[in-house]
Amino acid sequence: MNVVLLASGSRGNAILVDTAKTRLLIDAGLSAREICRRLELVGVAPESLDALLVTHEHSDHVRGLGPLVRRLGIPVHIHTDVVGVLKDVGDPERVREFDEKAGFQVGEVAVQAFPVTHDACSPVGFIFNASAGKIGVATDLGIATRLVADQLQGCRVLVLESNHDEELLRDGPYPWPLKQRVRSKHGHLSNRDSSSLLEQLTWDGLDAVLLAHLSETNNCPELARAVAVETLAGQNRCAPQLLVGKQGTPVAWCKPQAT
Ligand SMILES: [Zn+2]
Ligand SMILES: [Zn+2]
Repeated sequence: MNVVLLASGSRGNAILVDTAKTRLLIDAGLSAREICRRLELVGVAPESLDALLVTHEHSDHVRGLGPLVRRLGIPVHIHTDVVGVLKDVGDPERVREFDEKAGFQVGEVAVQAFPVTHDACSPVGFIFNASAGKIGVATDLGIATRLVADQLQGCRVLVLESNHDEELLRDGPYPWPLKQRVRSKHGHLSNRDSSSLLEQLTWDGLDAVLLAHLSETNNCPELARAVAVETLAGQNRCAPQLLVGKQGTPVAWCKPQAT
């Protein structure tokens, strides 16, 4: 089981979830060409993807969606409310609609979407259940609701937004309305809020935590990491590997081979 943040940040997002038998791409926020290049960088042939999934319609998540669907000819799973909002889904014949009420299956992976609070049309996070364990993805959320924390219980791998440092955002260059948007209930999760969520999700099976969607303006990887390290140090249930996503290059977590 591998989880790769192919790109993570305000300028484009794409996440590969690769079990032994099934390969999923969550979001396509870079050009199709760049996504394919990064997949090849991590040793994955783009043609081997089984499906694409979309969290929400913001351009940093769907920029390359249409061209990628046309290029690969694979199914794209999109929330029913979002299909009509997207300008280019690639090929309407490839669209598979979902909503939060029902899960769906791709290969060996059982997928469940769950709603998050964000200023988009029916935005979701995802839970993936495969033979190797459960993986949770929650980026682009203003607050971590009880429902989000409940959904993410028992994951072996967590991809959690850690968007901004609250002081850097407050003192930074963003105009006031944009600062308000980022910190609102429908904006993005701060390092501190991300760690509060993580604190609720530690258990002895947690193998890895990937911090995602860091703001290049209002955060830095060392700060995000330090907050998560402190949270993990305050408990003794698990010692997961901690990785921080990057905008310009893939960050990969590979499950160590059992010995
Ligand atoms: Zn968004
Ligand atoms: Zn985003």
